This record gives sequence, C-alpha cells and structure tokens, in this order.
Amino acid sequence: MVRDFLPEGWGVQGERGIAFVVAGPSGAGKSSVISELLRRDRRLDFSVSATTRPKRPDEVHGRDYYFVSQEEFDQLVSSGELLEWTEYQGHRYGTPRREVVNRLAQGKDVLLNVEVQGALAIARAGLPCPVVLVFLVPPSWEELVARIRARGTESDEALRERLLIAREEVRHIPEFHYLVVNDRLENAVRELEAIVMAERRRITRW
Ligand code: ADP
Ligand code: 5GP
Repeated sequence: MVRDFLPEGWGVQGERGIAFVVAGPSGAGKSSVISELLRRDRRLDFSVSATTRPKRPDEVHGRDYYFVSQEEFDQLVSSGELLEWTEYQGHRYGTPRREVVNRLAQGKDVLLNVEVQGALAIARAGLPCPVVLVFLVPPSWEELVARIRARGTESDEALRERLLIAREEVRHIPEFHYLVVNDRLENAVRELEAIVMAERRRITRW
C-alpha cells in the first residue's frame, strides 16, 4: 500500500474519486474531447446531465443526456435531485446529484460537461472530493464559429447567442485550474489525459 510510505493521515489521490469538470464555449469541442477520453480511460465515468433541450440526431438518451420534459425537470429540481442546474438558451440543464456522489464514493472519477456557472457551482457544492476545473477553448474565435456551423445544430440566431454567451464565459478562465486549447483533437485529449493522471498522483491530507 502506498500509504505505508506516508505519514499518518496523508495519501495520494486514486483511492478516492475526483470530479473533473470540463467547461468552455459551446463548439469548443467539449463533447468530442470527452467522448475520446472516456474511450481511453475506463476509470472515468461520465456524468449524464438532464436537459429539456430537444435531442440532436446523433445523441442517445441516457448516454449524452437524459432528455426530459419541463414537468420532469421541475420534479428533479423540487426534489433536490440536482447538484446544480441552469438555463441556457431557453432550455434547462442539470447535474443529477445521486449518480455523481455515488460514483465518487465508490472511488470512481467522474467527468462532467457543464457551462461555466455550473462548473463554478460544482466547485462550491461541498462534494467530499477534489474538484478539478478545466476550461477548454478553441484556437480562435473564427474556428469556434466554423465548428458550430460545421456541427450544423444551431440556427444563425442561436449561433449568435452562443457566441455572446461565450464572450462572457471566457472572462471566468482565471477561476479555473487548467486551460486546454483544442486545436488538434488528439493533442487536446492527450493534455486532458495528462491532467487526469497528474491529479491522481497528488499528495493529499485525508
Ligand atoms: P461542444 O461540446 O464544446 O459544444 P463539440 O464537441 O460538439 O463541442 O464540437 C463542436 C464541433 O467541432 C463538432 O462538429 C466537432 O466534430 C468539431 N470539433 C471538435 N473538436 C475539433 C477539433 N479539434 N478540430 C476540428 N473540429 C473539431
Ligand atoms: P448543448 O446544448 O450544446 O449540449 O449544451 C449547452 C451548454 O450546456 C454547454 O455549455 C454544456 O456544457 C452545458 N451543460 C450541459 N449539461 C449541463 C448541466 O448539467 N449543468 C450545467 N450547468 N450546464 C450544462
């Protein structure tokens, strides 16, 4: 046991779960980077959020999101089942508390994809584990627009609104622990893998 080498009360991460929160502008590539990381690292579990947004064609209920009605979302909020929730472009998104807390208690690491205020709320939520905040940005604003257009999921109006939200979101970069530029997908995934690995090796008081 690694604890044999350390003074009483100290240990290294890895026996307890860590929450890795990835935020950043819509279109930065959060979903793409996260899905590749999940494929490579079996110790990471994705926190599937609930949302009232309509499903995109390539999305799967229970894998990408729990797609719920307004009434179902209200129920989740009033019964305290969400760790945090927000409204984004007229739709609501929230993190199911139980799934996250149970997995962390089992020593699994959890990966979350949320917008910036959600990330900061998770850091303040008093989870009994480290919360690592990672901000993902595209290499430029032009590339961000090109990616959202290429994804083909947003109207021009929604695209404009997402860019306005993004301008506000990047102001919060200093409140995060890490910044990753998603230029080439492979590099961004490798950088995120390195962050996960380093955080698992941190020496911490238990
Ligand atoms: P987010 O989850 O942050 O909104 P997505 O993962 O949906 O972003 O990515 C937005 C679009 O950009 C998608 O069409 C995706 O395939 C593409 N994309 C993601 N990462 C890259 C990259 N490194 N280079 C080029 N295109 C990318
Ligand atoms: P999209 O509609 O592109 O899937 O997501 C829109 C925004 O909502 C993204 O920034 C995404 O990270 C965020 N989001 C997804 N799930 C949650 C959640 O549970 N809580 C919060 N606060 N934001 C979320």
